[in-house]
Amino acid sequence: MGAEGQAALRERPGADLLLLEEFDVREARLGLAGDMGKTAHAAYALELCDRLCPPRHAEPAVFDWLREFLLRLEAGRASAERLRVFELGLLGRLGLSPALDRCAVCGRSDLGEENTRWHPEQGGVLCASCARRGDILSATTRQVLARLSRMSLDDAEAASLDRDTNAGCRRAILGLVRTHIAGPLRSLDFIEKMGGDR
Ligand SMILES: [Zn+2]
Repeated sequence: MGAEGQAALRERPGADLLLLEEFDVREARLGLAGDMGKTAHAAYALELCDRLCPPRHAEPAVFDWLREFLLRLEAGRASAERLRVFELGLLGRLGLSPALDRCAVCGRSDLGEENTRWHPEQGGVLCASCARRGDILSATTRQVLARLSRMSLDDAEAASLDRDTNAGCRRAILGLVRTHIAGPLRSLDFIEKMGGDR
């Protein structure tokens, strides 16, 4: 789980998956294996990268982001705050950042304390004039999401979200992720079963 190294891959005619011919482990990330919460977060982060990145396309910024996430996860504890910052940073690096500081339709940015609607398929939050239906995103959740999306993984170590705010952010981010991938995320079930921070 999460071992980092140099892989030699070979294309196979007509097959989607590349054949792994060789793998030299540089860093084994053994610290991830002994803790089920950490294993679950690592599995989720890896699955998100796998599902969101276009196939056979080098994504150095995503690789560095994932690598830092796994290093911090290995050294610390499995924290929901780090996971939220990772999700939003990953989406940003893939050009999939949602509009959070302004309405995705009319562009109005004085959203203040009003409740917005969450329409990830339309690019993010929509103001009350542009959407009367859809999931409500409270001003607090919207502002926290905007703050998290600007954080580094180092900032995330000191961040603290209450349970409800984290749950609101988590739901919104998953809604966004699901507009970009087809089918279920298998690692999510794993995190649910682990309980704890997710
Ligand atoms: Zn609007």
